[in-house]
Amino acid sequence: MHKDVKEIFITEDEIVAKSKELALQIDKDYEGKSVVLVGLLKGSIPFMAELAKHLQTDVTFDYMNVSSYDGTESKTLVVKQDLQEEIAGKHILIVEDILDTGKTLKNVKDMLVARHALSVKIVTLLDKEEGRVFDMKADYYGFKIPNAFVIGYGLDFNERYRQLPYIGILKEECYK
Ligand code: 5GP
Repeated sequence: MHKDVKEIFITEDEIVAKSKELALQIDKDYEGKSVVLVGLLKGSIPFMAELAKHLQTDVTFDYMNVSSYDGTESKTLVVKQDLQEEIAGKHILIVEDILDTGKTLKNVKDMLVARHALSVKIVTLLDKEEGRVFDMKADYYGFKIPNAFVIGYGLDFNERYRQLPYIGILKEECYK
């Protein structure tokens, strides 16, 4: 275990098993269709890679880097890096590391719908339901977690710990 980690919340084996389960469900739902997996940078990279390994569905990868301002206004999305593909008429599956207030995913989903995607769904590794402020539901989720700050498997604290192969909680002294 990494020296800064207090506790492992979800192990790598659990994440791999869950990704296989989600991939089976996604394959069933998208049978015969092509899908663009849209990863939100940077946190979604490890989960998107794991999930995609188990998919039989015809997929392409695209990425978007967005940030939303703090506050309760929902329309505060800044697109730092946009998609490379045209998405009109395509099925889009947004891949995210964690769904918390719902602000990021609500904004991104609205934007992709406005670009005339044929469908827009969301798969998130983690769902922090207690944190929800905006009306947003994931179509697929890996694990529901309580309202704690987690790191690893793409999730960072000041850009660190994204490489950890599990979801963990940091030791308090690492926040200070
Ligand atoms: P939302 O827009 O749903 O509030 O938040 C989504 C983003 O907030 C995530 O993509 C992630 O960057 C950040 N976030 C929310 N909760 C956590 C957490 O527990 N740990 C980390 N590292 N980031 C989080």
